[in-house]
Amino acid sequence: VNCDDVESSLDLYVDRELEAAAAAEVRAHLGECPACRGRVAERETLGRLVRLAPYYSAPDRLRARVLAGGARTR
Ligand SMILES: [Zn+2]
Repeated sequence: VNCDDVESSLDLYVDRELEAAAAAEVRAHLGECPACRGRVAERETLGRLVRLAPYYSAPDRLRARVLAGGARTR
């Protein structure tokens, strides 16, 4: 598994939708790749914010912060 593989399955990994074998490979890569670890942490923080703050009631400030953080719409 290389960084490209990890990046392409990052969303699924963070959402725990990756099959067990693939998730294990991603985890193994994360163990030795700080860059991908950072990407996962970023994605998890973002997901948490989105879940905690329903979009219809999210303060504009929060939304701005999320967008500023490089959020990509799915
Ligand atoms: Zn990597």
